[in-house]
Amino acid sequence: MNNNISNKNIRLSKSCIGEKERLAVNKVLLNEFLGMGSTVKEFEDKLTDYFCRPSCCVVNGTAALHLALQAIGIKENDEVLIQSLTYVASIQAITAANAKPIFCDVNKNTLTIDLEDASNKLTDKTKAIIPVHYAGSPGDLEAIYKFAEKNGLRVIEDAAHAFGSKYFDKKVGSFGDIACFSFDGIKNITSGEGGCIVTNDKNVLRKVKDARLLGVEKDTEKRFSGKRSWEFDVTNQGWRYHMSNIMASIGIEQLARFEDFANIRKNLCAIYYSLLKEIDGIKLLEIDYENTIMHIFPIFLKEPQKREKIRNKLLENGIQTGIHYFPNHKLSYFSNIRNTNLPVTEEVYPQLLTLPLHPDLSKEDLHYIVDNLVNIIEK
Ligand SMILES: *Cc1c(COP(=O)(O)O)cnc(C)c1O
Repeated sequence: MNNNISNKNIRLSKSCIGEKERLAVNKVLLNEFLGMGSTVKEFEDKLTDYFCRPSCCVVNGTAALHLALQAIGIKENDEVLIQSLTYVASIQAITAANAKPIFCDVNKNTLTIDLEDASNKLTDKTKAIIPVHYAGSPGDLEAIYKFAEKNGLRVIEDAAHAFGSKYFDKKVGSFGDIACFSFDGIKNITSGEGGCIVTNDKNVLRKVKDARLLGVEKDTEKRFSGKRSWEFDVTNQGWRYHMSNIMASIGIEQLARFEDFANIRKNLCAIYYSLLKEIDGIKLLEIDYENTIMHIFPIFLKEPQKREKIRNKLLENGIQTGIHYFPNHKLSYFSNIRNTNLPVTEEVYPQLLTLPLHPDLSKEDLHYIVDNLVNIIEK
């Protein structure tokens, strides 16, 4: 059913693909080498230059998290601290590694992990923490790294939202233990589907490179030079998680356009911020808007009971909205995990409403969205 009774169609998010991406994909198709070869190497090298650290491209962001967990030696019954308020991908990556997600609460201003709650949930089985850079903001990363160091935990940053964001003057992914990015169709840059793992840890890097190709040892180097391994050894469980040349060709062009994308996202968020900050019924995230390249623009509604009505009215006027996220601890599949008390998560998730954000939106679109939203809220 289409509830849209206006002629507008403002999408919540979308891929922004131009002639360059189309030509690049066509070139790969004409070459008739679609799988993992020199184009993936080229994208990986460009990401390595971007982050000033080695990176490894995989099939999606969930696979990046899964391989990172496997590479740090996470095994059955190990516990991993993570906020419940995230995309289910972050949690499924943990269960895919046979470990237990330990659901933590969030800071009510940034919606990043609450370290006090995380600290209360430490046990001798806790091996890692996955901070989720909600909406693109890494929260208090310094405190997270201090907490991890003190408690002997590995840190795998779920930076799926945070491509291009900075923590003070450093790019997310350019420092720290391990960072995982997603290049799915609607993220800050896309390779169709796709993701990458960024780390200085040589051991982790070697493991993820093998594991993305079914555990075939050193197959990456062969594929990058257009060859295959015929006689080889496998010593670990691997997965079919590599990136294809088709995907990488899109990723290379998107990375080249990223500065434009980043500036557009920043400008759009600055407009949202200035139009919404004085509105009574709305609260905004308290993050560093200057250094964050936001992937989504969530707001808090002070009257959550109005959310469905607001969403329906906006849709009638051609404006899609989203909810990031329905908490994972409420999902049936995770109901056997230790019962958790998450007061902030419970309080905020009904208030959350995500407004459209992607580089093809205009200033006029944002005024239209905000005018409609404010009209409904103030009625
Ligand atoms: C998109 C996303 C992922 C997973 O990335 P995919 O490429 O979709 O597998 C992980 N965590 C968060 C928070 C995400 O938004």
